[in-house]
Amino acid sequence: MARPRGFLELTRARNIERPRGERLRDHGEVDLGLPEPALLDQAARCMDCGIPFCHSACPLGNAIPSFNELVQRGRFREAASILWSTNPFPEITGRVCPAPCQGSCVLDSDPALGGSVTIRTIERAIGDRALEQSWSRVRAPARRSGRKLVVIGSGPAGLSAALDLARRGHDVTVLERADRPGGLLRYGIPDFKLGKHLVDRRVQELCGLGVTFRTGVRAGVDVTGAELVATHDAVVLCCGARRPRDLDVPGRDLRGVHFALDFLTQQNRRVAGDVVPEREAIVATGKPVVVLGGGDTGSDCVGTALRQGARHVLSLELLPCPPERRAADNPWPEWPRILRTSSSHDEGGEREFGVRTTRLAGEDGHVRALEAIRVQMIDGRLRDVPGTELTVPCDLLLIAMGFVGPERDGLLDQLGVALDPRGNVAAQGGRTSAPKVFAGGDMVRGQSLVVHAIAEGRRVARSVDAFLDRATG
Ligand SMILES: Cc1cc2nc3c(=O)[nH]c(=O)nc-3n(C[C@H](O)[C@H](O)[C@H](O)COP(=O)(O)OP(=O)(O)OC[C@H]3O[C@@H](n4cnc5c(N)ncnc54)[C@H](O)[C@@H]3O)c2cc1C
Repeated sequence: MARPRGFLELTRARNIERPRGERLRDHGEVDLGLPEPALLDQAARCMDCGIPFCHSACPLGNAIPSFNELVQRGRFREAASILWSTNPFPEITGRVCPAPCQGSCVLDSDPALGGSVTIRTIERAIGDRALEQSWSRVRAPARRSGRKLVVIGSGPAGLSAALDLARRGHDVTVLERADRPGGLLRYGIPDFKLGKHLVDRRVQELCGLGVTFRTGVRAGVDVTGAELVATHDAVVLCCGARRPRDLDVPGRDLRGVHFALDFLTQQNRRVAGDVVPEREAIVATGKPVVVLGGGDTGSDCVGTALRQGARHVLSLELLPCPPERRAADNPWPEWPRILRTSSSHDEGGEREFGVRTTRLAGEDGHVRALEAIRVQMIDGRLRDVPGTELTVPCDLLLIAMGFVGPERDGLLDQLGVALDPRGNVAAQGGRTSAPKVFAGGDMVRGQSLVVHAIAEGRRVARSVDAFLDRATG
């Protein structure tokens, strides 16, 4: 270790963010990371623990102490090689991952230790440096396998599966129903968290490896499941879990009530230069906005609504407010179930917890107010608190209450793929119940995290490879 006492001598640094007043005027990235000297110091806080809990908390198994050691010595190129061995898209996870690794860092085990190493920031810096310097990690395979594979869906799971399969010399086509590849990285996560040039770079890299992207093709409609199976050695499903949880209250059918993802996708499109037809446009400008749901999607709606010039943004979450610090039943190194404040929450609006929507009230068919009641967790159940009814003005309601599983748009039935009891695709080590059909990402896990989707994509690629090896005999 370059600085064995680094964790005692150096304090945790916060990433630099663009000033609020400036960033609310555009959709550019908010988080700027850290300048190099500060970053090297942060890497030097890593204790290189005998048992690196961070490593096992990372779904990709990133070898965190090893790249921290190299970064503190300024050896970014070697650090990149180590990081790429587990994580194909570090510049992406380095921006959007909630970093389960940090919750398991030994420096996070006691507040007196000053907080976890800033692993995510270090990861991002390695990824960015590699892109800036055009360090190449992807080599064309020495020989082609002659196997023809199709990946359905180009989110992080599909991209990572396609990358690993192409590296093994297979002939890979990715089908994507949207007009641009990237899944939720492209049309979901706002540009202020993840610039889309980063998704484009990865897609270009895959094209360079011989992967073919066919956008605007909906598997199950434009090409049937049977055709896909008949014309490929394996079919890999990475279609995500986009069926939104709906709000079942009177007034749900009023105009001005929308699913969060429709709102976010439109803004991604505008930033990409597309024109959203006025009659379809979902805009927050000048309106009192209510966002239902306090997760990542809800927070992204807050940031987007503020950038569009909403008059006021109120986030309502059904569950009670999480604690500021770990509760006794949530010890380190578990993922900390604590209150999280995103950069969007910092930008404005209000947040309330423990509120259940009961009715939407409208005028001339358009939502104008949301009626609700406060709830409390009693004996493990949420109960209404009598006398706490409230009404809030609302001209735009965004439903960000999570997702209930993969869409049922025909493809799964056509392929005869079995679902698990939660309605996700049932897959054992990536293999589904249908011959030659594999699945990974949110489609199997349910709506989750980018880092899990990448890990799933890699796992499914290994599984397909093993299947093809066995088939060769
Ligand atoms: C608004 C929002 C913000 C989020 N923010 C974060 C975050 O900050 N950090 C984080 O870690 N996670 C975040 N997540 C979760 C994360 O984005 C997902 O877990 C991840 O993208 C899942 O990857 P995936 O490849 O499985 O699916 P997706 O990214 O959903 O991609 C699936 C792709 O399949 C395509 N597809 C579906 N059906 C078909 C078909 N029949 N034919 C052709 N193509 C098809 C879809 O168009 C899509 O492009 C967020 C999710 C949302 C909704």
